[in-house]
This record gives sequence, C-alpha cells and structure tokens, in this order.
Amino acid sequence: MTGEQPDWPSCGLEGCSGVRLPTTSLCLAHASEQAPDAFDAELRRVSAESTVDARGVVVSAELLGRLMAAVAAEDHRPAFKVALFDQATFESEVELGEATFEGIAGFDHATFKRTFRNLDQGDRACASAVPGSRL
Ligand SMILES: [Zn+2]
Repeated sequence: MTGEQPDWPSCGLEGCSGVRLPTTSLCLAHASEQAPDAFDAELRRVSAESTVDARGVVVSAELLGRLMAAVAAEDHRPAFKVALFDQATFESEVELGEATFEGIAGFDHATFKRTFRNLDQGDRACASAVPGSRL
C-alpha cells in the first residue's frame, strides 16, 4: 500500500491514508484522538444515516465498537446502509456476524491483523474480506 495514493481526500497527518472527515482535516481514527468534537459530530452523522466511510482508516477495537454502536438498530444489531472500509486496517478481532449490510459494503484491500469472524455465513457482502488479505 505504501506509495499508493488513495482516491479519496486523505487525513492531514503524514503517513495516514484514512479518508478525511467532512468537518476536519483528520480521519476517524485521528479525530477520535485529536478532534473529539469532529469525531462526535461524525458519530452522530453515522448514527443518523447508518453510513460509515472509513476508507484507509486504521480501525482500533474501540473505534469499531463505537461505529457499530452508532449504527445499532433497535435490536442492537448494527445495520449499515453503506460501509466503506476499503484499505482500512483492522487492529482487533473483527466480529461482523451481528452486522447487517443493506447496501454497499466495501472491504477492498482491507487488512485484518487478527481473526476475521463472520458468524453469518452466506453474507456475500463480507465474502471478499478474507483474513489477512492485502495488497
Ligand atoms: Zn489519520
């Protein structure tokens, strides 16, 4: 991935290719550390629209948990309308078995550092997300 320009406006921090949030020059991961207001605003937007754009973002367990919680439906199952995780890096074990994807789900070139678990077999939205797959 190094040397490859992402095709989205990226985080202002050097070496980070996470997609930048609308309200700050930082990506989700860095906004959570450095721009909590922008991060909270984005979480509210995610919650309202059930769409997540975390392309290129390094997704920690905590960040993933907050995103999943933000899109949780009444039955507490996360329901994404759009989930863009292209080239994202998942630092933790990913459990998407509970999650549903109503629309677009992108995991192109996503990196899974630990186990990928999808308990919901036959979910084709997740089928391309192979453990450890990367380019
Ligand atoms: Zn960043």
